[in-house]
Amino acid sequence: MNTFFIEFRDPLFGIIIFFVLIFVITFFSYWWGRYKSKEDSRHLDKFLRSFRSLPSKDELKVLINSGELSEKSWLLLAQSYFKNGDYEKAIEIYNELLKAATLSNPRDTMFLLGRTYFKAGFLERAKQIFLQILKDNPRTPQALHYLLLVYEYLRDYKSALDVLEPLDELNRETAGDSAYLKSLALLNDPNKDNEDKAEELLEMYRATHQLTYLVFEFLFRVNPALAWANFDSSKSEVLSGVLWYLDKKDLDFDIISKSAYLRELYSARGDISEAKSSSVFEFDVLINLKGSSNATLNFEYMCDNCKQIYPFVFNRCSSCHAIDSAVVEFSLTKDYHRDFSEENNSFQ
Ligand SMILES: [Zn+2]
Repeated sequence: MNTFFIEFRDPLFGIIIFFVLIFVITFFSYWWGRYKSKEDSRHLDKFLRSFRSLPSKDELKVLINSGELSEKSWLLLAQSYFKNGDYEKAIEIYNELLKAATLSNPRDTMFLLGRTYFKAGFLERAKQIFLQILKDNPRTPQALHYLLLVYEYLRDYKSALDVLEPLDELNRETAGDSAYLKSLALLNDPNKDNEDKAEELLEMYRATHQLTYLVFEFLFRVNPALAWANFDSSKSEVLSGVLWYLDKKDLDFDIISKSAYLRELYSARGDISEAKSSSVFEFDVLINLKGSSNATLNFEYMCDNCKQIYPFVFNRCSSCHAIDSAVVEFSLTKDYHRDFSEENNSFQ
């Protein structure tokens, strides 16, 4: 029987206890390490989640009224929501701030709220806010400017033109806005036909020499002959997008042959072969390809004022609201239209 047990004085017993202790300590330290790392990662996840989930409307109310954060901090937070395009959250903060009795400058906060409503597309609400600001402070040019934009977006051009008067009295530049709003009012007038609109637009253009793209895009669409008769070659570049997509039957080759830029543009398109090279890289490549490759021009438009780039043309920049600030930029792209028509031909 004694052979199965080891005496506790036996040195082997000590060695077994030693290894058992090592095993127990190793196991606990391994388990503790796993537990701690899991706990740390859960804590970090919870901490990061708290940034992703925004405070609810009720939580915001409590937080703002508790006064734990200063008014400036709330305004900065709302501004960062605004910049990230989270207009709903910015609106909630501004609304709660305006309800707080301790607000130091309600007019500025109201302006920020109106601007956010405008950006988020709540035009009626934005209009009410700006009208309310102007009721108490009629000489606020920023609010007048935004009210003009709201009326313009609501297509209430008459009211927008009325806003120009107080802006003019405050010595603000209004000539561009005036020409633009009058042109929009004319183009959206249901009582005039396209021929009358074309004539009146031209008359305005001759007086101001502004809004070249808006005027000539309309003229080339409704009356190409009238557009060519009044065409100013120095404006060819800004009109490249319109000229490039004109039907071949609507081209005036007499005018085209007199302008170096137009010769290069239509040689690049393949209608004529009068230009052998061009200072515009994209035209030059297309002229040298002579239609052998499936390439065409792609147009992008950059705002000369704020440098924002758009894939489509604009008359008023939606970012900085500048008028007539589009600068055309070319690039070469695959001609999907040609691909499509060749595929269709192969089926015939
Ligand atoms: Zn801009």
